[in-house]
Amino acid sequence: MTGYDADVVVVGFGGAGAAAALSAAEHGVEVLVVDRDTRGGNTALSGGSLRLRPDVERAARYLSTLSLDRKAAAVHRSMLDGCRDLGGWLVRLGAEIEEMNDAFVTNTLPRVLASPYPTIAGSEALGPRFRVRGRDGQSGGDAVWELLRDAVLRHPRITVRTPAVAVELVRAGQGRVDGVRLREADGVHGVRARHGVVLACGGFEYDRRLQQNYLGFSLPAFGWPGGNDGSGVRLAQGVGAALWHMTSIASVLGYQLPGLEAAVRHSMPDLGYVYVDQECARFVDETGVDFHAIPMDLLRMNPRTFRRDRMPSFLVFDEATRAAGPIADTYLTPYRDEFRWSRDNRAEIERGWIAAADTPRELASTLGLDPDALAATVERYNAGAAAGADPLGRAAADMRPLRGPFYGVALWPCLINTQGGPRRDATCRILDPGGEPIPGLYGAGELGSMWTQLYPGAGNLTEAIVTGRTAGAAAAAALAPPAGPAPATGTVTPAVTDALAAFVADLRAGDLPETALRAARRCVLDQLGCAVFGSTLPWSALVRDYVRDEGSAPRALVWGSGLRASATLAALANATAGHAFEIDDLHAGACFHPGR
Ligand SMILES: Cc1cc2nc3c(=O)[nH]c(=O)nc-3n(C[C@H](O)[C@H](O)[C@H](O)COP(=O)(O)OP(=O)(O)OC[C@H]3O[C@@H](n4cnc5c(N)ncnc54)[C@H](O)[C@@H]3O)c2cc1C
Repeated sequence: MTGYDADVVVVGFGGAGAAAALSAAEHGVEVLVVDRDTRGGNTALSGGSLRLRPDVERAARYLSTLSLDRKAAAVHRSMLDGCRDLGGWLVRLGAEIEEMNDAFVTNTLPRVLASPYPTIAGSEALGPRFRVRGRDGQSGGDAVWELLRDAVLRHPRITVRTPAVAVELVRAGQGRVDGVRLREADGVHGVRARHGVVLACGGFEYDRRLQQNYLGFSLPAFGWPGGNDGSGVRLAQGVGAALWHMTSIASVLGYQLPGLEAAVRHSMPDLGYVYVDQECARFVDETGVDFHAIPMDLLRMNPRTFRRDRMPSFLVFDEATRAAGPIADTYLTPYRDEFRWSRDNRAEIERGWIAAADTPRELASTLGLDPDALAATVERYNAGAAAGADPLGRAAADMRPLRGPFYGVALWPCLINTQGGPRRDATCRILDPGGEPIPGLYGAGELGSMWTQLYPGAGNLTEAIVTGRTAGAAAAAALAPPAGPAPATGTVTPAVTDALAAFVADLRAGDLPETALRAARRCVLDQLGCAVFGSTLPWSALVRDYVRDEGSAPRALVWGSGLRASATLAALANATAGHAFEIDDLHAGACFHPGR
């Protein structure tokens, strides 16, 4: 490996980075993982829920409706296939896996619905949620993280280097990404990657400028302050990557509290509560809408005032609910080792985080709201609760008149994670704006996620590990390892493919004898004729539809149609058409297909 620091360099040591490193190492290459710290990113703070048993065909249709992104169909499919393989892989790493029971859905407020977007058919095809049981009884993302981290740390072919912040990608000849510049304690150093670099360094939960540019606002986040700062987006842009899904986020409600940079998650112990906007009006069925979907109602812009006047909104709850349990989940935050929310919310009232008052009017004054408006809203809600009827559709069984004293706190849509980043294909190669892979560059995890506006839950962590595995394997295979056993006779390795491609790329017509040129011309003509006929066959039409759906830059002609696509996609369609009715593979003497 002279001149190289590793075969594969992985930027980011969260779930995606750990999975990428393990997968690359499983393919026999040397891996270097770099991160600014060792806390495990969003992965370690997550709820830890995973999808391991989707019904692939139906789930693919569901995802295509959910995402509204037809370019992502192949990416969805690859992720769903990867889900089915994921449980077995985690078990081989030593995981104990359990299905999350129904109590998770029924006992959580706001609710985690089995079908977050009930008007879109097919959500059940994603299958149940699963989680990893931790050694010390944890069952959140910390259990997943510890499993992956420990497997990485004990792997003989993986080296972890921290603290090391990736500041720039380095390109070699022909534009191949072959290294990263790292900022470390003693200065900036370059590390070189023989096969390629995997970007697995999370989203832009802590980059307000990127959020303002793409979302139109910036939000508090649940992740480690200073962790995912959008550097993955900038690194990829620096080498010409296309971006996608930059306006999409996963969000749930939370609190922004004085002295805490990260948000704290909202979670209710009982039913005595409502949400109101800045005019003190209720706006959503607080218990009947999935917790991932409720933030959409807070994010909207008021079409009359052109203000986002539900940011923040306010949680108003009553005495019985205060006494029933904490209104926050401090386990899924960076502060879980520093403090736990008090069981009766008293400590937080004393700290001034929660406003308390005997009447809705007094509460409104403390929160800076209109006292008459809040009093009227509580009165209307209580009358509806007594009658079992709610104009917003809250179920009668979920309503109970609010009784004082009353409590209130500002409520924000908070970032679980952003979804945007460099666009990748089904094998996790990062693409340029023309849809062509940037050689040597791979992406995984929430950076450039496949998820878009409608996030169904338990999707990002699963995607992080699945795409990490895919990216690690693809990077490892980009070139043959320099050492190791010789390939078996007849095996085509990537190194042979590279050598063949380089030979063809360098070849000039003048280098060839006339007889070879004549034979080549006849072969090209033969291939073209076969392809023109082959393009009329149904299986060629399927591939052509796929190429059209991928929507790449119109650079090369797809034979037998007026369609233009990127060179690689056009080559796929044309090669399929050329081989659609050929019988060359049947003649033993003429058999040249590398797969034979
Ligand atoms: C509170 C919370 C709950 C969640 N619950 C769930 C859930 O239950 N199910 C689910 O599917 N998803 C959940 N998610 C989302 C999910 O956890 C993440 O999207 C996923 O884990 C992301 O994994 P990742 O490896 O892509 O990023 P991360 O795990 O965030 O790792 C990225 C790493 O990159 C490092 N890094 C960033 N920039 C650089 C740089 N320039 N140089 C070096 N290192 C860098 C960071 O330090 C970090 O360690 C939750 C997220 C949060 C915050």
